[in-house]
Amino acid sequence: MEILEVVATAHNGILNQKTYVLVKGKNAIIIDAGAELEDVKKVVQNKKVLAVLITHCHFDHIWCIEDYIKEWDMPVYISSGAEEKFLDSNKNCSNIIRDRKTFNVNQDNIKFFEDKLNIGKFEIEVIKTPGHSADSVSFLIEKSLFPGDLVLGGSIGRTDLYDSDDRDMWDSLEKLEKIDFEMAYPGHYEPMTKQETLKCFKYDFI
Ligand SMILES: [Zn+2]
Repeated sequence: MEILEVVATAHNGILNQKTYVLVKGKNAIIIDAGAELEDVKKVVQNKKVLAVLITHCHFDHIWCIEDYIKEWDMPVYISSGAEEKFLDSNKNCSNIIRDRKTFNVNQDNIKFFEDKLNIGKFEIEVIKTPGHSADSVSFLIEKSLFPGDLVLGGSIGRTDLYDSDDRDMWDSLEKLEKIDFEMAYPGHYEPMTKQETLKCFKYDFI
């Protein structure tokens, strides 16, 4: 599996959301939808996009979802109940950047996660990791983990947002130690080894 990344440039790149394109043979799946369509298309090239998986429905992770659907008309996988965040700028937190945005995603495109997803030849384990957001999940694909905003940039995700929860956050962080992964690809900033990932919250970790 090839893992390619595209960084969002909206808002002058301040949010630097990372959209990942995973490629196997002639097929691709996309994780999160913050990066601009034209930039993602350059990476996707002639691959068939089978699905988009959203780690959580904060505005910066779904910023370009309408463009992706127009281009590829593929299923958009989210946590059950998170669809309301498309329609409410307080719930998708775009209110915090004073650019309230709602997203028109056709019901037919929305699919909800199961614990395991098989999409083409991609085998995806979906791990519930709430805390930053109630709908936050992490994806384990082979030995690569996609934790969204659970851990990022040497720290943990914010827990001061709509439906954040500190206790859930710590429960989710503790799950990380038990997950068998080699590299984590967070929703912002650089990929991390497992050791670097654990250092984000285990301050006594050597
Ligand atoms: Zn977020």
